[in-house]
Order: sequence, then structure tokens, then C-alpha cells
Amino acid sequence: MSCVFCRIISGEIPAQVVARDEGATAFLDLSPLADGHVLVIPDRHVARLDDLDAPEAEALFRSVVRLSGPIRDALGADGSTIGINNGEATGQTVPHVHVHIVPRWKKDGGGSIHSIFSAGNRRDVSEVGDVLRAALDGR
Ligand code: AMP
Ligand code: ZN
Repeated sequence: MSCVFCRIISGEIPAQVVARDEGATAFLDLSPLADGHVLVIPDRHVARLDDLDAPEAEALFRSVVRLSGPIRDALGADGSTIGINNGEATGQTVPHVHVHIVPRWKKDGGGSIHSIFSAGNRRDVSEVGDVLRAALDGR
């Protein structure tokens, strides 16, 4: 078993596990972006979010929803940034789905997820809407 997150679930390597829910495990990130930076992962090794089946997805997000408020409150934070790097192109370094929960404070100097992206020309939104409606029709 080479996946570091699978090895955390099995207890083969240590981690600051903070919750074990049905189908999902939450532990502290080793290189936290803020105090209380937690990763929530599905118990099954799946690389991308869209590879999860419906019950696994429900279990994962049930856990994220259940934990995000108490994590925020325990750290005295004002909110949290919740994000997923989904695929190598996005900066995903561990190919086992993980949801980052990062506590945030009003004056922590961080940006919103919008700050990831630079300004640039975008395709017309109605045209992209047509593309996506066609692709998603019936799915
Ligand atoms: P990502 O860039 O979205 O793939 O994030 C992977 C995250 O996993 C990074 O924030 C790392 O700090 C974290 N990480 C890697 N190895 C470990 C580990 N053994 N225990 C806890 N967190 C880890
Ligand atoms: Zn894994």
C-alpha cells in the first residue's frame, strides 16, 4: 500500500486523526495553512472526486458538513475555506480524494478562492452554458 492517506487510515503511519465517521476520516494536515487545517478523506482509495460513488460522496460530505462548524468554533475562527484540488493540474499532490477545511479569520490576510485565478478573456457565459447543458443533459 503506497498511498500515504490509505496508510493513515490503516494506522500504518501516524497522524493527528480528529474524527472517524462512517466512510470518512479526518486528520490534521502535516503542513497546515492555518491552525486547525483538517483533511477529510473517503476511506476507499479514489483519486478524483468524480470517481466516488454516490454513497461514498454522501458519507464524505456529511462528514465535512458535520465537522466544519465545530472546527471553526474550536479554533475561534470566523469562517473556513473548504476546497478540493481535483486532479494533478490543480495542484493535487496526493492522489486520494481529500477535502481541505482551513479555518479563516477576518484579518488573516488570505484571499478568497477567486484569488487563485488571474484575469483573462473568458468565453461567453451563455455559450458555455449551452455546452454544459448539452453535456450534462440526462446525466
Ligand atoms: P493537495 O495539494 O490538495 O494534494 O494536498 C495534500 C495535502 O496533504 C498537503 O496539504 C500536505 O501538507 C498534506 N499531507 C501530505 N502528507 C501528509 C501526512 N502524512 N499527514 C498529513 N497531511 C499530509
Ligand atoms: Zn489512498
